[in-house]
Amino acid sequence: MRHGATEAEVQRVVGVIREMGYQARPMPGTQRTAVGLVGNDGRVDASRLEGLPGVQEVIHVSRPYKQVSREWKPENTVVRLPGGVTVGGTDVAVIAGPCSVESGSQLIDAARIVREAGAVILRGGAFKPLTSPYSFQGLGRPALKLLARAREETGLLICTEAIDPDGVGWVVEVADIIQIGARNMQNFSLLRAAGRAGKPVLLKRGISATITELLLSAEYLLAEGNQDVILCERGVRGFDTLTRNLFDLSAIPVVQKLSHLPIIADPSHGTGLRDKVIPMARAAIAAGADGVMIEVHPNPDEAKSDGSQSLFPDQFAQLMREVRVIAEVIGRRIAEPAPVGA
Ligand code: PEP
Ligand code: MN
Repeated sequence: MRHGATEAEVQRVVGVIREMGYQARPMPGTQRTAVGLVGNDGRVDASRLEGLPGVQEVIHVSRPYKQVSREWKPENTVVRLPGGVTVGGTDVAVIAGPCSVESGSQLIDAARIVREAGAVILRGGAFKPLTSPYSFQGLGRPALKLLARAREETGLLICTEAIDPDGVGWVVEVADIIQIGARNMQNFSLLRAAGRAGKPVLLKRGISATITELLLSAEYLLAEGNQDVILCERGVRGFDTLTRNLFDLSAIPVVQKLSHLPIIADPSHGTGLRDKVIPMARAAIAAGADGVMIEVHPNPDEAKSDGSQSLFPDQFAQLMREVRVIAEVIGRRIAEPAPVGA
């Protein structure tokens, strides 16, 4: 719509889109309101819309994903979390914690360590979708209770994974962010359930997914009405065995050009090796990531999963000092934890 178009003009456009048999999604922006059209499976004849009062232009979205694209919404999406934490604005959010929740004491130790160093979100899996059925599968629902307690005691927000549609219902009671793992990026019933859950979703790139496939999976979440989606680059399968994965940092600027959604990076799974996590976390922030997810364990040598890529507490504290400086150089800031009790 034109700058200054009236509410009545916007509503007229909405009405005509509905008469044409589609759904209309008005999106007020800082400069002007856009009205999105969904429900078509081909090019729409826009002649009825172009001439309506207040309409500036009709833009046909050329990408296979729609609501996720910058054509649909030019302004960055800022995901707002409790306590004023944002992902996708100027702040860079650090999500840290163990791969898996292993016990109450392990989790609370990890939470205190990462909070003290400056993380704002605690990660930790209750349900682990690991490649082998004989690997640790997570503590399940009891771990969700431990996460809730850690949130209460430290004020950290919680990011934890749901691996099936039923699990979304349990995870949503505790999590501030529902994580969808790489192995589940194209689990469409899970995506639909998470899209309806009413909480922000962290969607990790599949192990062999293209960027277009990642964005199409995100489209499932937006199509269910969830706008609060954070994408995550976590490395793809490469040909070299010296790292666990090929950490595709170029995906960050590519996604930022194509989509308004925030994108963070996970150098822990991206490299799989503790001493490679630190330089690649620095690089991810320099490349413009809206956050980083880092595995940190109070005692990595005893971790039940992903110990070899988990940072020792002092390494994480050092990394936090470094990334504060890097963020500042590119005009950003590492999000600070709120004072406890605030
Ligand atoms: C995890 O975050 O611990 C995890 C299993 O990640 P991914 O889905 O990226 O492998
Ligand atoms: Mn892990």
